[in-house]
Amino acid sequence: MLGPPGAGKGTQARRLAESRGVPHISTGEILREAVQANTDLGRKAKTVIESGQLVSDEIMIGIVSDRLGKNDARDGFLLDGFPRTVFQANALDGMLKDRQPLVVIDLSVDDDELVNRLSTRRICESCGTVTGSLNGQPAVICDECGDGLKQRSDDREGVVRERLVVYRQSTEPLIGFYQNRPTFRSIDGSQDEESVAALICAAVDGATA
Ligand code: AMP
Repeated sequence: MLGPPGAGKGTQARRLAESRGVPHISTGEILREAVQANTDLGRKAKTVIESGQLVSDEIMIGIVSDRLGKNDARDGFLLDGFPRTVFQANALDGMLKDRQPLVVIDLSVDDDELVNRLSTRRICESCGTVTGSLNGQPAVICDECGDGLKQRSDDREGVVRERLVVYRQSTEPLIGFYQNRPTFRSIDGSQDEESVAALICAAVDGATA
């Protein structure tokens, strides 16, 4: 699933993976868990994430290649946040040589709406649920588990702007990389969560029919 930060990739990817019975592989979540656990990877990734930049292709390709080799990903998987560069996309094609088709869903949302969503987005550290704003104000308590919500360190305003610049430079070119494939679909991600979920479902079914 492709799209700029704040387009709803995580929320939609979690829903779709659950409904299709495949693992949801979020490279951002893998990195945040490593930061939390203070592993070697986590220490390397922390400063990069907090500056809004990308972790190196080499590290990310290694992480995804290991993860796709696990048993639960044998019959399919949903990638959220990978690939993020054309180099990563080429590496993914190499990993999937015998495992096509790769369905690519691009979620598009305009910049003002992205900045608005990211500045009020909060995440539950206990269960990972992501919550948007309530009447323009950030939510405080997680609806799913009742624990407190926090702002992601890279959702602060200066970092958000940098992440959007990095997205335009490094990740948006992936649309050109994939758009001529018969399994590429672009979806308007600015609608409400349910409508976008229904569009994605139909797009995946259409792309794999
Ligand atoms: P996300 O949760 O997908 O927004 O990712 C959070 C941050 O993790 C990004 O801003 C990057 O710093 C890093 N990251 C996640 N996935 C990748 C990737 N495929 N390549 C490089 N950096 C990544």
